Amino acid sequence: MSTSAATGDLDAWRSLPALQQPEWDDPDEIRAVAAELANQPPLVFAGECDQLKAQLADVARGEAFVLQGGDCAETFDGSNADAVKNKLKTLLQMAVVLTYAASVPVVKIGRMAGQFAKPRSKPAEVRGGVELPAYRGDAVNGFAFDAESRRNDPHRLLKAYHCSAVTLNLCRAFTKGGYADLRQVHAWNRDFVQQSPAGRRYEQLAAEIDRALTFMKACGANPDEFHGVEFYSSHEALLLEYERALTRIDHLSGLPYDVSAHFLWIGERTRQLDGAHVEFLRHIRNPIGVKLGPATSADDALALINRLNPEREPGRLTFITRMGAGRIREALPPLIEKVHQSGAPVAWICDPMHGNTFEAPSGHKTRRLDDVLDEVAGFFEVHQALGTHPGGIHIEFTGDDVTECVGGGQGLAEGDLHQRYETACDPRLNRGQSLDLAFMVAELYRK
Ligand code: PEP
Ligand code: MN
Repeated sequence: MSTSAATGDLDAWRSLPALQQPEWDDPDEIRAVAAELANQPPLVFAGECDQLKAQLADVARGEAFVLQGGDCAETFDGSNADAVKNKLKTLLQMAVVLTYAASVPVVKIGRMAGQFAKPRSKPAEVRGGVELPAYRGDAVNGFAFDAESRRNDPHRLLKAYHCSAVTLNLCRAFTKGGYADLRQVHAWNRDFVQQSPAGRRYEQLAAEIDRALTFMKACGANPDEFHGVEFYSSHEALLLEYERALTRIDHLSGLPYDVSAHFLWIGERTRQLDGAHVEFLRHIRNPIGVKLGPATSADDALALINRLNPEREPGRLTFITRMGAGRIREALPPLIEKVHQSGAPVAWICDPMHGNTFEAPSGHKTRRLDDVLDEVAGFFEVHQALGTHPGGIHIEFTGDDVTECVGGGQGLAEGDLHQRYETACDPRLNRGQSLDLAFMVAELYRK
């Protein structure tokens, strides 16, 4: 592929229908912002994307497991050291438990450092008889319910870039600088087990990890991998002007990479085969994902493979299924069977969040931890029955003590939701619920 051909392909999406794109008031303004973004340094590098792709190829082969997670919608205010540190700490704690349980490497991917844009089911929001444009993520407009905040402002794309840079810098520092030390992370898990009301149940697992670490110490094993981890960034590739402006031709390979994140996914609402999102992501060389909801047919999945990974490159394509606890056991098997028969290498990840959202009597959008766990259990059961590999989980969580999902060791009930309901979009598992989930998923490996 010549460089000029590649660059031309990168703009082919412009002539196709692009769903969920904000309307900008002034075409000159968005053009100027895109030009400025195109001059910014890359957030990630092609070599790092290739390394993640190789790890996702391991996942597709059944030799690794993915833990992907973070906020539904990151906010500019949330791009601070404490919030990022708490999220990373929780992710690292979950990863240690899952590594021990799955006995394979866990690939850690943050839904972080770029998750600033949201698709919406309705273009407008009505409150108290007032109608305003829906909130589309901090990259587009403001969360506050007033006309000025809800105005689309292209300069927010630049702020999204800068907040992504700040967040990724923190992540890189925390995961390399001693904070991610395996013994330290395990000590945090011990604290959780001791302090959580439901933690006793996890005693045995924590004690086993203790013994494994003590054994390795006694052997004199102290590899680099104990002192830092590889961490990757990801977000939904929704705003095509933003993603296009951050796409660069890698000077070593001559191929285009979207340098806004290591991994990009196409959402359930924008995965039309002939739509702009599939067309754009077809041409970048990052590892990519597609969300698949319960209405997906096996033929849809095969058509997406043909379009997005015609060369069947291992690690290139991940399917993130989000079926709902009540449907996964029927909806997932036909997809896996047909894809498996086709021989295409695909990593399968379970998003147990988006098919399990409901509204509590208080009006809060919420999810039950039990439903989340049930969908993950269904995902494992289906793969086990078919002899394929459950490749990972994709969750919405935060490292803080919010009250957005119900259930878990702290016994959070629907009546508690108002206490700390802070999400800018979908309800997230809090720190304790996330760790509960990791230990509960670990228990699934013992069944
Ligand atoms: C999301 O991940 O926040 C989201 C909108 O998911 P989906 O595309 O699966 O609906
Ligand atoms: Mn969400």
